[in-house]
Amino acid sequence: MHISNVIIEFVKRVIQYNDQFEEMDHNYLCNQVLALLGEEDFSAVPEEISVLKADTLVLLDAMVDQAVVNQVVEDFQSTREILESRLMDFMSPAPSQVNHKFHELRQQSPERATDYFYELSRRNDYIKTRAIAQNIEFSTETQYGPLEITINLSKPEKNAKQILAESQAKSVKYPQCQLCMENEGYLGKVNYPARSTHRVIRVDLKGDAWGFQYSPYAYFPEHAIFLAEEHRPMSITKQTFANLLYLIEQFPHYFIGSNSDLPISGGSILSHDHYQGGHYDFPMAKAAINYHFPLKQWPSISAGIVNWPMSVIRLQSKEIEDLVEAADFIYEAWKAYSNDALSIRSYTEDGVRHHTLTPIARHNGEAYELDIVLRDNNTSDEFPDGIFHPHPEVQHIKQENIGLIEVMGLAILPPRLKTELAEVKAFLLNNDHQLEEKHLDWAEMIKETHDITEENVDDIIKAEVGHRFATILEHAGVFKHDEIGVEAFRAFVDGLTLK
Ligand SMILES: [Zn+2]
Repeated sequence: MHISNVIIEFVKRVIQYNDQFEEMDHNYLCNQVLALLGEEDFSAVPEEISVLKADTLVLLDAMVDQAVVNQVVEDFQSTREILESRLMDFMSPAPSQVNHKFHELRQQSPERATDYFYELSRRNDYIKTRAIAQNIEFSTETQYGPLEITINLSKPEKNAKQILAESQAKSVKYPQCQLCMENEGYLGKVNYPARSTHRVIRVDLKGDAWGFQYSPYAYFPEHAIFLAEEHRPMSITKQTFANLLYLIEQFPHYFIGSNSDLPISGGSILSHDHYQGGHYDFPMAKAAINYHFPLKQWPSISAGIVNWPMSVIRLQSKEIEDLVEAADFIYEAWKAYSNDALSIRSYTEDGVRHHTLTPIARHNGEAYELDIVLRDNNTSDEFPDGIFHPHPEVQHIKQENIGLIEVMGLAILPPRLKTELAEVKAFLLNNDHQLEEKHLDWAEMIKETHDITEENVDDIIKAEVGHRFATILEHAGVFKHDEIGVEAFRAFVDGLTLK
């Protein structure tokens, strides 16, 4: 028997990329890999793979296929991913090593440090580059400038065998949640993602311990997650504004924002305090201020309302402390603000708070910039899913919460839309179609307002999805863009300056 050339090439790359290993470790590593794949049969390795030129992920597939043939692992998504992650772990230095290297590079420049960690996270397949590449992405022009759309096809489909295995799996309280630090190097389970290659950079936020990692299913370049070392619930407080700005100091090329801390108006994980960031200018960051107002208490700050479908106040200053004080002042004012005519209600009779914020920090030239998005999570008989949430008439496109990423102008739309929009297209072209009832009004409106041809139909659908997304964001906005909404928003911000 001989060691397969796939394993030999893989081990060569492990030695090349992981400083912990040297040439002398070759036999040792081959045997470590072999231990994971089983030795019985190498026939699964296709002869035609040109291993020297193959992408490492192609080698990875070949090795996992071999393990399946050897009956070392079951052939479904989660078990394959656990083995993939264990194999790619050979390419990933230990967490302490990654941290040392990161902090060493940061002395030179923060960008070099994040470049190193991002490259590592892509190379070791922690960031699922192949799955992400399947997403459908486009951008469309709207009255608020361009909005971006992603139809999310990157989350793997589960087969029946896996669904059965998941249903039989015991629920174990370790790791406590997917954002806890204890995920670093965790093997994974049929109902829990493989984390052998997971590494967390330790970040000190003025004495509070945080971690920094990339998102495995990224929606934009260098999609980062910052997480509290302690498992504690999301909570928007004055400290949140300070933390976001301190992080921007440490990562000046990133934006960093937080989801709100209340259901309906926030993201999907409220149980663990975390932020998201990345090396990317979202459409909202490029939107202009259309109404300036003074904040006389803080002369260093320039403040205004942003031309955006949601209700956004932008603060700019070179002084972090001023921004923190002003943001907290606005937050307190918002928590106490009600306006019956606009269905905005800060507290219900039971004393439950309904107002919160989605804050986002970034650099703008020399200044720090803090965008404060006003959120209200009330429901009503008319809008049981949320008054400031996508309304029923747009839920055929999106019914999920409008979280941080959507707020900033990137729609993450569900995978079902890929096939459903193909039916919309067939309907518009008068071909055979299976258009679902929920899309009918919208599709008829499109048909009536455009001259549709084979050539322009795709662009028209994209543009109309973009308009729908603008409407979805308007629904999530607390002050509407009609006369009464604009006037009330201006009155709110004009009232923020002390007389
Ligand atoms: Zn946690």
